Amino acid sequence: MILYIHLLHKQPGNNMKLFYCNLSLVLATAAGFTIQTGNINKYNSISTALYAGNPNPVFPVQYAPVAASPAISSNTNRRPIVAGNWKLNPATKAEAIELLNGLKAGGVHDSEVVIFPPLPYLSDALTILAGTGINVGAQNAGSNTKGAFTGEIAPSMLASSGCSHVLLGHSERRSLFGESDSSINERVQACLAEASLNVVLCVGETLEEYEIGLLKSVVDTQLRKGLAGVSADDLLMGRVVIAYEPVWAIGTGLVATPNQAQAAHVAIRDTLLSMYTNPEVASKMRIQYGGSVSPDSVKDLMAMPDVDGALVGGASLIPDSFLKIIQGSWN
Ligand code: PEP
Repeated sequence: MILYIHLLHKQPGNNMKLFYCNLSLVLATAAGFTIQTGNINKYNSISTALYAGNPNPVFPVQYAPVAASPAISSNTNRRPIVAGNWKLNPATKAEAIELLNGLKAGGVHDSEVVIFPPLPYLSDALTILAGTGINVGAQNAGSNTKGAFTGEIAPSMLASSGCSHVLLGHSERRSLFGESDSSINERVQACLAEASLNVVLCVGETLEEYEIGLLKSVVDTQLRKGLAGVSADDLLMGRVVIAYEPVWAIGTGLVATPNQAQAAHVAIRDTLLSMYTNPEVASKMRIQYGGSVSPDSVKDLMAMPDVDGALVGGASLIPDSFLKIIQGSWN
């Protein structure tokens, strides 16, 4: 039996609503119902509580196994790439150094690895991880090159400091800091103008969009706008990696099923096929899945033919977990 809880109120921080939702979840689970939720915003603590408390969430939209278009070569040797997005963590430099030393102890990896620490820790990261093969990148960059832009960071500053990657278009930048597709595109172009910088461009739909079947169109628009003006040559050189991150999976503990991730990655390749005349662009593009990836989920996700790696938030702050994810991306 399925109980469908439709949340009408989306304001966070309402303790009574949270209490009643949790109570109904506990009672319904005890009575043998499968819980299915709808109209959920990930920033709503009630929704997160529902999902977090539900070991077997029923996804409102299901995806069957899907293969990439025949125009896409299956023999592309895409090297897996695992990235760690530290977000606004950890709180102190001492903790960051401990974390970096934990990663260094993991040695050299077969998959490509990038970490995105907060800006104040970049120089320590570059020093401590030198020789490990782990790349260091920034969580954002501005599109201006210099001048009166207080608080901004120019791509040339990152490149000349030794960073190799920049994470752009993360859903938290889009939703919390108002970054639009066009401002993300300006940043993509500014970063690619620095010869030594590579970009990880994040795309992904919200839960509301997912529930009404908009995954493909949302991701299609984000890609077309985010990559506008980017040359096929830059893409063929591997200077851009796409991170497919369903917003509802980020930081919620709810991982997309391998079939869901595969379907989204195929949709991304389809968009690239229609954007660029050379089909190699779509074939060679590395596409990471991101959203609550853990050592337990990484292998099944990586078993999908179009999943080429993972973008990891929470688990990248625990060296043991992150190292296991890196290992799982290869084996
Ligand atoms: C992220 O921040 O990009 C992310 C995927 O976070 P988490 O792994 O914690 O869901």
